[in-house]
Amino acid sequence: MKKWRVLLGFGSETGQSKSIAQGMVDIASDQHQICAEVFDLDEVDKQFKLEEEPVMVIVTSSTGDGEPPSNASKFWRKIRREKNPQYLSHMKYTVLGLGDTNYSNFCNCGRVLDRRFEELGATRFYPSAWADDAVGLDLTIEPWLEGMWPALKETLAKIGNPTETSINSLSESVTQLNLTSENKPTVERQISSSNKFKSDIDNITYSSNLAELTVLTLPPKPQHSLSINLIESSEDKNLPSSEINYHHSILTRRECLTNTDAMKPVMSVDLQLSEDEFMFEAGDAVKIVCANDDNEVHLLLKRLGWLGKASHQLDISISPDNTKKSAKIPAHIPPMCSLQYALTNCIDIRLSPRKNILRLFVDCTSDEDEKRRLEELCSKEGSEIYIKYILEEHLSILDILNHFPSCKPDIAILIEFLPALMPRFYSICSSPLDDTRRITFVYSVLKFEPVNGRTYERFGVCTNWLNKIDIGTKVSIQTRISQHFRLPLTLDTPLIMIGPGTGVAPFIGFLEHLNLSLKSIDGFDVNNLNTWLFYGCRHRQHDFLFEEQIQMYQQMNVLKHFFVAASREENYPFRYVQDQLKANGNELANLIYNQKAIIYVCGDIKVMVRDVRETIAHLLQEHF
Ligand code: NAP
Repeated sequence: MKKWRVLLGFGSETGQSKSIAQGMVDIASDQHQICAEVFDLDEVDKQFKLEEEPVMVIVTSSTGDGEPPSNASKFWRKIRREKNPQYLSHMKYTVLGLGDTNYSNFCNCGRVLDRRFEELGATRFYPSAWADDAVGLDLTIEPWLEGMWPALKETLAKIGNPTETSINSLSESVTQLNLTSENKPTVERQISSSNKFKSDIDNITYSSNLAELTVLTLPPKPQHSLSINLIESSEDKNLPSSEINYHHSILTRRECLTNTDAMKPVMSVDLQLSEDEFMFEAGDAVKIVCANDDNEVHLLLKRLGWLGKASHQLDISISPDNTKKSAKIPAHIPPMCSLQYALTNCIDIRLSPRKNILRLFVDCTSDEDEKRRLEELCSKEGSEIYIKYILEEHLSILDILNHFPSCKPDIAILIEFLPALMPRFYSICSSPLDDTRRITFVYSVLKFEPVNGRTYERFGVCTNWLNKIDIGTKVSIQTRISQHFRLPLTLDTPLIMIGPGTGVAPFIGFLEHLNLSLKSIDGFDVNNLNTWLFYGCRHRQHDFLFEEQIQMYQQMNVLKHFFVAASREENYPFRYVQDQLKANGNELANLIYNQKAIIYVCGDIKVMVRDVRETIAHLLQEHF
C-alpha cells in the first residue's frame, strides 16, 4: 500500500494540541493511508523545511494574551520576519486553532499563523477552524476532521506525492481507501429493552431521545501504543518529572485575607526564592507546579481496584505490537515512578475526559447498558449531552467511572491518554522593588459539592494543594511574562484599573511598585500619577481584600481615585464595578478620549470582563 505524506505541525502549551495532532497521525495512517510526519512547530529548519513542504496541517493553541505556545514561538518569529511574499506560494495548508472564548484573543495564534501563511502566498486547501474549549473542543474538531481528510487526500492526489515512488497509481490507493471499511466510525446497535438506567429525567446515564437511535457515529478508537507492567518494589524510586525550566521556591507564609463569614475564603501566600535568576515585574503571573488531592487519588485507585498496587513501579515501554507512528512514552511521566506518584503528580485526573477516552472506555465496559450509554456520550449524535452533563458540570474521570461501574480500564489507558497535570497561573501582587526573591499572590478557595453528576466533594486542584502543604514546602514555579499587562513608561498616563475579587491582585502589585518607585527613583513625582481603581467584593465587612493596603496607597497619594462595589450588601447603591464605572462615566470618557488612559481589567473572564467591556463601550458612546 502506498502512503501519501503530509507535514503536521503542532503548537502546544498544555499538551492538548499535541495529543490531537498525534491522534491525527494515527487516523491518517489507519484510515486514509496518509503518512503524517508530526513535529513541534519549533522544529522548523531542524526536522522540516517549509520551502520543501507542499502540504501542511497546523494544530495550535495560544497562550497568555494570544501568543504562540512555547514550542511555536521560533516558528512564528521565522514566518513573521519573512519578507518574500511568495515564500509559501508552493504550499497548501489548513489550520486547526484551539482556544477558549472565555479568554480575550480567542485562537489568536492559529488565526495569525493562518493569515501569515496566506500573506506569504500559501493556499488553504480546506477552511481553517477554531475550536472552543468553553463549549467543548470536539464540537468543532469532529466535523472539521470529517471534511479535512477527503480534502487532504484530494490535495495530495493532485500534487502526487506518494512517500514511496512506485508503479502503483493513485487510483489504486484511492480504491484501497474506499475498500477499507473496518475503521468506519459508525456503530449500529440494537437498543436494549432493559435499560436499567432508564428514568424520567435526562441525566448523565440516560437520555430518552438518544436511547431510540439505532445508529451512532463514534469517534475513531484511539490505538494503544504503550505496554505497562507494575513491578513490586520496596524502594521509593520516584524521580521527579523534568522541571528544567522551573525555579525552586519555599512556601514561607499562608494567611486568610477574608473573615469567617466570607462566601469564598481568599488566601494570600508568599514564596521565597533561593536563586537570583527568577525575574518578574509588576503585572506578571506565576505558574505553580501542583499535585492532585491525595484523597481523590485514593478514591480513583480504589475504584480501579489498584489500591494494593499503588506503590508498584510503572514499567512503561512501547508495546511490541504497536503500529502507531507517533508512539512515545509520555514526556510527563518520569522514567521511574510508582503508580501513585504518576496519578498524584503527573496526570490531570480532574479534567473532564475527552470523547476519545470515553470511546476507549466503551471497550472496557462489560455491562451492555453502560456500554451503550458511553457510546451515546462520545457519539456525534450525543454532543449536546456530552457538553451538558460532562463538560458543563466538570465531571472528572473518577465521576465517569463511578457512573459506569462495570467499566474497568487498563492502567495503560489512563497513563497514555489522560493529559499532563499542568501548572496553574496566579497574578503576582508584590513588587520586585520590595524584594526580588519574594513573590506574593492570592487565590480563592473553591469548593464543588457532589451534585449534578459529580460523585464526590472536591476543591480546586492547585488551591487545595496550596492550602494543604506545610510552610517550608518546596514549590516549583515559573514566571509568565505579561506582554501587555504592564505599567506604562510615562507615569502621567491615567491608569483605569478594574479588578473585582482576586482580580485586584495585579493592581496591588502595580500600586506597590508605584509606591516603592516614589522612594527609589529620583525625580519620581507622585503628583504626576493619575490612578483609578475600581474594586468589587460581596460584603465590605467580610471579603474586602487588601483594605488596609489600599487605604495606605490613598494616603500616600499613589492611588488617586478608589471606588468599591459590594454585590451582597443591602441598600448599598453600587452592586458591581460597572455601577461605579457608570457613576463616573463622564470623567472616565474624558480620560479615555482626551488623555489616552490605559484600561486594565482583571478577574472573572466568563461574565465580568464581557459586562465591563459593554459598560465602557456604552459610556464612551454616551459621553462622545
Ligand atoms: P468573583 O467570584 O469574581 O467575585 C468578585 C465580585 O465580583 C463579587 O462581588 C461578585 O458578585 C462580582 N461579580 C459577579 N459577577 C459579576 C459581573 N458580571 N460583573 C461584575 N462583577 C461581578 O471573585 P473571585 O472568586 O475572587 O474570582 C475572581 C476571578 O478572577 C476568578 O475567575 C479568577 O480565576 C480570576 N483571577 C484571579 C487571579 C488571581 O491571581 N487569583 C488573577 C486573575 C484573575 P456576586 O455576589 O454576584 O458573585
